[in-house]
Amino acid sequence: MTDCIFCAIVAGTAPSVIVAEDERTLAFMDINPVSDGHLLVIPKAHSADLLDIPPEDLTAVTLMAQRLARDAVDEFGADGVNLLNSCGADAWQTVFHFHLHVIPRYLDKTRDRLPAVPWTPEVPGDRDLIVSLGSRLAAAV
Ligand code: AMP
Ligand code: ZN
Repeated sequence: MTDCIFCAIVAGTAPSVIVAEDERTLAFMDINPVSDGHLLVIPKAHSADLLDIPPEDLTAVTLMAQRLARDAVDEFGADGVNLLNSCGADAWQTVFHFHLHVIPRYLDKTRDRLPAVPWTPEVPGDRDLIVSLGSRLAAAV
C-alpha cells in the first residue's frame, strides 16, 4: 500500500532494525521504545488493523510475537512482557498497518517507561451492565 511506513519497511525502502522474519511476518525495533527491547511484529501483507487482518496473518504474527517475547525475556532478563494492539485511532492506533507491540517489562524503571496500568482492575463495574453486555455479545457471536 502506498504511503504506509510499515509497507515501506517490508519493501526495504524505509530504514528499520529487523529482528526476525518469516514467510508472513516481519519483526523490527520500535523507534520510540517505551522499554528496552520494545519491538513490533507485523504481517508482510498490508492489513489496516485487527478487524481487517486475515486469520492466517493474525496467527503468524501472534506466534512470532510469542517467540520474540520469550527471546526478550531470555536475552534482556525482562521481568515480564506486554503484548499490545491498538485498533482504531480512538484506541490509540497511529500507524494503520496491523502490528503487535512486544514490550518487555522491567522492575528496573530506568529500562521501562510505561506508566501504571491505565485502568483500575480493583474497582468493580456495574454488575447489571456487565451481564447485559455479555449477553448481547454472546447472542451476537
Ligand atoms: P500504534 O500507536 O499502536 O499504532 O503504534 C505505532 C508504533 O510504531 C509506535 O510505537 C511508533 O513508535 C512506531 N513507529 C512508527 N514509525 C516507525 C518506524 N519507521 N520504525 C519503527 N517504529 C515505528
Ligand atoms: Zn502497510
